[in-house]
Amino acid sequence: MAYAALNSSPAVALGLRGLRRQFPTLAQKINGQPLVYLDNAATTQKPLVVIEAMERHLRYDVSNVHRGVHELSVRATEAYEGARESVRAFLNAASVKEIVFTRGATEAINLVAYSWGRANMKAGDAVLITHMEHHANIVPWQLLRQELGIELRVLPMDERGVLRMDLLDAMLTPEVKLVSVAHVSNALGTVNPVREIIERAHANGSRVLIDGAQAVAHEVIDVQALGADFYVLSSHKMYGPSGVGVLWGRADVLAGMPPWQGGGDMILSVTFERTVFQKPPARFEAGTPNIEGAIGMGTAARFLMDLDRGALADHEHGLLTYATERLERIGGLRVIGTAPDKGPVLSFVVDDVHPHDLGTLLDRAGVAVRSGHHCAQPAVQHFGLHATTRASFGLYNTRDDVDRLAEALHHAIRVFR
Ligand code: PMP
Repeated sequence: MAYAALNSSPAVALGLRGLRRQFPTLAQKINGQPLVYLDNAATTQKPLVVIEAMERHLRYDVSNVHRGVHELSVRATEAYEGARESVRAFLNAASVKEIVFTRGATEAINLVAYSWGRANMKAGDAVLITHMEHHANIVPWQLLRQELGIELRVLPMDERGVLRMDLLDAMLTPEVKLVSVAHVSNALGTVNPVREIIERAHANGSRVLIDGAQAVAHEVIDVQALGADFYVLSSHKMYGPSGVGVLWGRADVLAGMPPWQGGGDMILSVTFERTVFQKPPARFEAGTPNIEGAIGMGTAARFLMDLDRGALADHEHGLLTYATERLERIGGLRVIGTAPDKGPVLSFVVDDVHPHDLGTLLDRAGVAVRSGHHCAQPAVQHFGLHATTRASFGLYNTRDDVDRLAEALHHAIRVFR
């Protein structure tokens, strides 16, 4: 396929033409049309290097980790721990001891709520979140509220989907033991001023968790420079497999946290009277982990680190700007989430057309987008809506993809009017 826009400068710097060939799923037709995949905020496609690393493990190296002395176990353990090192480098964490493998961002937040939350919070304490959080950063705190009687405080946002930072200091009272905030909103695209939030929260003596699920594929994350206490991410949103993710926690914070699940691999010794737990990260990884998933995630981290990340950010930002300009010209279409600083996420609604119907018609044209509340119901309800249609961009998308989206939208709207 000829992509004129592959010759634009960020695309060239990124090596976009060759990169697209790394993603076998993209080279297919859906409903008779070449696939345009614009659902990257939900999950990303996987490059050959990730598929092949997982296949290599499954073909040749299958064994449990940390347990056997035989050759396969050594290979599997080296690959699993090597993946931890890759993720450490990806986040610029100080040590692999700060990298806990989880099932994903959701499990990482639940881990913090269950372990850190129960050990450090009591009735009357508060967790401060924002109005634009994913359900994964709302519900675990509600469960903790039910159990401990803590308070859940919600920092409001304005009509653009920008956090009301002017209200933050007044809400940061001594009761707030934890501030838990999305780095980038999955429903609106807003990039939050996390550095400033971390500074102000720390000045209040609060710990800070940053939900990086929508950030890590798009910008370079340096957890040491950011200075939060926890940072969570999911592999499948950064070109790795699903069912695996990471909780990064500062070593001193993790060290003070009790286990949250018990079982094999998280203990030093067990008798019926007493169990001695491992240090982090093993303390938080009870049971056989998702070994091939971690290997895939580590490979995805290396894959991203090998790219020109500045060119990637420029490329994706260019797509967002181009798409916003093109879609705003469509009569009756309203963009939801108009923050000045946005990740490559474009939510919109069209007068008199239900987002699900729109999604179905776009699919008929081979264009994959998401319709719904994006697991961020309060954020969508803030705009008086139950659902939006969302196009979200990844490294392999092109301006031609945006053109196909715009054409398919024009066509779909004609069907309904
Ligand atoms: N936080 C945000 C901002 C997200 O976008 C998502 C996934 N949509 C999650 C958390 C949860 O990620 P996962 O389902 O991979 O655990």
